[in-house]
Amino acid sequence: MTALPLRYFVACVLGLLLVAAPDAQAQEVPIAIDTPVEGIDRYNPDIPTPQDVIGHEIGTRHTRPAQVIDYFEAVAEASDRVVMERHGTTYDHRPLIHAVVAPPEDLSRLDEIKAQNQALSSDPSSVSDADLADLPAVAYMGYSIHGDEASGTEAAVLLLYHMAAGEGPAVDAVLGDVVTIIDPLFNPDGRARFVNWVNGNRGETATADDQDREHNQPWPGGRTNHYWFDLNRDWMPVQHPSSQARIALYQDWRPQVLTDYHEMGSEATYFFQPGVPSRTNPNTPDENQELAGELAEYHADFLDEIGSLYYTREQFDDFYYGKGSTYPDVQGTVGILFEQASSRALKNDTDSGVMNYAFTVRNQFLASLSTLQGTVELREDLLRYQRDFFADRDEFLDDAPMTGYLISSERYPQRAQALGQLLMQHRVELFDLEETVESNGRTYRPGSAYWVPLDQEQGRFVKGVMEQRTTFQDSLFYDVSTWTLPLAFGTDYSELTSTPDGVRGERITDMSYDGGRVVGGEAEVAYVMPWGRYFAPRALYQLQDADITTRMMPDPFEVEVGGTTQSFDRGAIVIPLQQRNATRQEVHAAVQEAASAHHVEIMAVNRGLTPQGPDLGSASSTVLQKPEVALVTGNDGRSRWGGASAANAGEVWHLLSERFDMPVSLLDISYIESLDLSEYNTLVMAGGSYDGLDAERVQAWVEDGGTLIASHTGVRWAVDHEMVELEAKTLDVDSLVADQDYADLGEARGAQGIGGSIFEAQLDTTHPLAFGYDETIPVFRRGTRFYEPHEEPGHTVGTYTDTPRISGYISDPVEEIAQESAALVAEQRGSGQVILLMDNPNFRAFWYGTNGLFLNALFFGDTF
Ligand SMILES: [Zn+2]
Repeated sequence: MTALPLRYFVACVLGLLLVAAPDAQAQEVPIAIDTPVEGIDRYNPDIPTPQDVIGHEIGTRHTRPAQVIDYFEAVAEASDRVVMERHGTTYDHRPLIHAVVAPPEDLSRLDEIKAQNQALSSDPSSVSDADLADLPAVAYMGYSIHGDEASGTEAAVLLLYHMAAGEGPAVDAVLGDVVTIIDPLFNPDGRARFVNWVNGNRGETATADDQDREHNQPWPGGRTNHYWFDLNRDWMPVQHPSSQARIALYQDWRPQVLTDYHEMGSEATYFFQPGVPSRTNPNTPDENQELAGELAEYHADFLDEIGSLYYTREQFDDFYYGKGSTYPDVQGTVGILFEQASSRALKNDTDSGVMNYAFTVRNQFLASLSTLQGTVELREDLLRYQRDFFADRDEFLDDAPMTGYLISSERYPQRAQALGQLLMQHRVELFDLEETVESNGRTYRPGSAYWVPLDQEQGRFVKGVMEQRTTFQDSLFYDVSTWTLPLAFGTDYSELTSTPDGVRGERITDMSYDGGRVVGGEAEVAYVMPWGRYFAPRALYQLQDADITTRMMPDPFEVEVGGTTQSFDRGAIVIPLQQRNATRQEVHAAVQEAASAHHVEIMAVNRGLTPQGPDLGSASSTVLQKPEVALVTGNDGRSRWGGASAANAGEVWHLLSERFDMPVSLLDISYIESLDLSEYNTLVMAGGSYDGLDAERVQAWVEDGGTLIASHTGVRWAVDHEMVELEAKTLDVDSLVADQDYADLGEARGAQGIGGSIFEAQLDTTHPLAFGYDETIPVFRRGTRFYEPHEEPGHTVGTYTDTPRISGYISDPVEEIAQESAALVAEQRGSGQVILLMDNPNFRAFWYGTNGLFLNALFFGDTF
């Protein structure tokens, strides 16, 4: 590929758009018409402008997702440089689309180009330096994953127009050297919420007043996806359809550059990476950050040209691989984060004057052009870097302290399979075992374990997401400090330091959930379902929903099934054949269906008398109530920011509605007082502040028999309102930072926080809230509010161990306070109960290991 001469100074895309617009005079947006876009002779009039299709000029309104797609379709139709593809669908059934921009002769051989590009990672030794000279680079330009950080998507629309219609050396150079993928809508569902709000709450004459309605979107805001998840934390966990579709697209292309355009506070300027150097994930090679630094020169050039201020190497970092600009860094791609000061609405008063939406779009657009120009000029360096990233495997393996991970699926098959599904989406290769392997006192058997070696293409990724980490160069983190996946999924696993013989069998190509059957044919007396399988609560709910009565056995027992003895741990569910509201045939059918659909093993029992332990009709067994769940959501109306945490509430909503097929009523805190709470037997406060909630009313509801489940920051409300008597353990941060200079105070205070670490908790497994669990489990910990164990015996179901931190950052004084403090507390109150989970058991939807604690509270909350 030959790079064409650049740096013509001709016309301005925004200028042309505005001048060409028939009602340009009517626009009050003072976007700089003389913003120069260098290297363009003219824009081809045969390509529709955004205004032709959408009906408004970019920057004068907020463009809806459907309009963006209309425009991309129209350009793909009119231009031989553009193809549009659909790569997925969101929860709200919106299409996820991207455009591929390349010369027509390349568009007709995209598969070949894709394969050549893939060879850099799959077969790096086959690609010589001379080959690199002829390869185009691939730039994946992605926008506005936070739906209310809207300027990025507008810039993507302009970029498509510029690339499709632009004629001149600047566009020629990009077309000649780069395959550009433009993904304008990382999060269309969130954008739709935001855009409907701002456009719908703005009059013909826009106000810059930030107290105005347009400037204050309502709870939960447009940042997140349908279930209120931050999609820019889900690149690695891939629990949501839009992430899954995007990661498949990324992996199909393995681009050299990936961009991620955001917005930040209105008083800020502009940020682009590299971020804080000391906070770069140690699994990311230094050269990645050096290349980000070289690309930064181009962003600086473009923004200097118009006098826009910016910053680098501060505030933002490249540590958590779940973020869009960091995920690619452990896969040979250079990911770049951009942050534009937000105008919030169409215009906004700031300390430096009125900021217009169009101004923010212009910066994002220019930083897109700079990325492409940088990619053209650094093309061979970027390609070589990616090839060498994959070629240097031996060096990486020599340095890595481990050789791979053995995951057992024997006791917790679905959790291990869910982890395997996650890894396979990132094109990690998993292998069945050839022989039985013993490690750390565990036996891993072929068929019920898998091997994840570092010696594979995605070896660095494997290390980056599977390892435990307890040493850090910095003590501050933009996001969490750890995510060790086998701990999050609660799987039995071993990290191996050598590769034993026979560990690597056949490659696994299918990791679907399996297992699930009825053992022993048609039962005569009852069926028994052990508790502990991941989807057992879903099976139970389905039976309850079919009006089938179930009993929970709190003690272990044995039964004879088909001539063999089966042992059951605490929490087994007995499903009697004699039912008041269902026939025997209906029970047989429902049990068959539950076993196969929810991957549980259910035993058929022909005698109520058991050889060991309580009989099936045991006096200690409890008839289970079907959970009727209400989740506290919304803002209490007292401030713009108070109320339930949308992220935490969304995690519960998603878990129940999406994964466990259970309805949940979302009750808004602002009108909860007018609602009839007796419709529900379970109320969930998943996190946030609940000042608007009437504590006396909730107490009365609990005393009447309700189960209140509070988790994470939701615990505070329950303790503050004396729903449970617990003593907080406080850390005196002031005394810890007393010797610090003024300039170092912020960092010193921050170092005493827990942005996200993994702790070990010890459970009383004889308590129903811990049924199905081992005595020690990993939990995800955020925040430094700790509590003493409950004074009454039997009320503290979980505590942190005396060395609680197993992965992630924590300061010594904080660890001291955390030791042996309460992790899970339950107390009866009147006829009801209050259950406090100090941690977030449903964190970001990938903590499969602790979901069961929350579900125990839901299903067994009234059994003790
Ligand atoms: Zn953002």
